[in-house]
Amino acid sequence: MRLDVVTIFPEYLEPLDVSLVGKARARGVLDVRVHDLRAWTHDRHHTVDDTPYGGGPGMVMKPEPWGEALDEVLASGEPGQDSPVLVVPTPSGQPFTQELAVELAGKPWLVFTPARYEGIDRRVIEEYAERLDVREVSIGDYVLAGGEAPVLVMVEAVARLLPGVLGNAASHQDDSFAPGTMANLLEGPVYTKPPEWRGRGIPEVLLSGHHGRIARWRRDQAFARTVGNRPELVERCAPEALDKHDRAA
Ligand code: SAM
Repeated sequence: MRLDVVTIFPEYLEPLDVSLVGKARARGVLDVRVHDLRAWTHDRHHTVDDTPYGGGPGMVMKPEPWGEALDEVLASGEPGQDSPVLVVPTPSGQPFTQELAVELAGKPWLVFTPARYEGIDRRVIEEYAERLDVREVSIGDYVLAGGEAPVLVMVEAVARLLPGVLGNAASHQDDSFAPGTMANLLEGPVYTKPPEWRGRGIPEVLLSGHHGRIARWRRDQAFARTVGNRPELVERCAPEALDKHDRAA
């Protein structure tokens, strides 16, 4: 998978060299290219922002550098390569969910446009929406100073779904929000050795070796945690995904 990130803070993306994503890059699973937006400015101050039309506080990112940068990035695709999905981080976008991460993980090429200030001149989004699949995406209902941290979040969520990135491919299948039997349920508690720590033991069932009982226990714990922390997710569960244990809980 190829990932391009256009930003005025390339150094903010340095964590993409670390850990799981860094290893995926080193193994060639991910081809990450970070570009400095200011390389596409032509004035002495490398200006990327200007005052907003209509007045108001804050600055808006100018369309010209974004247009030149994106044209060049798009033109750098291999011959015959599909167009990328353009991922525009913004608090006013669709929520970034595990479902969207799974969808994006199936794409060969993603281009991210993390902004600063009050965001990017709207015409840039409109221009590229005419020829690309453009997704405006929010990582949560809060406002950050820039889109670089959201890009780190999205890239990590997508990268760990790519074949060969996680040591154990099955390990994301039981995650919170993973599609399947546990869809829309949060993952329940997890334990490891030692069997006793500060007087606290391990739930007996996990030591039983009985796969059916363990699966049932995990499902009930997931359900209880979801009811406690995110009751609105239970509402979204398909009725056939719930059973009499859940209703009793
Ligand atoms: N004025 C904008 C608004 O209220 O929607 C907020 C702009 S924010 C200060 C600057 C940039 O940070 C955004 O354009 C976006 O790239 C990024 N950003 C901030 N919060 C975000 C979030 N929750 N999800 C995704 N990107 C976000």
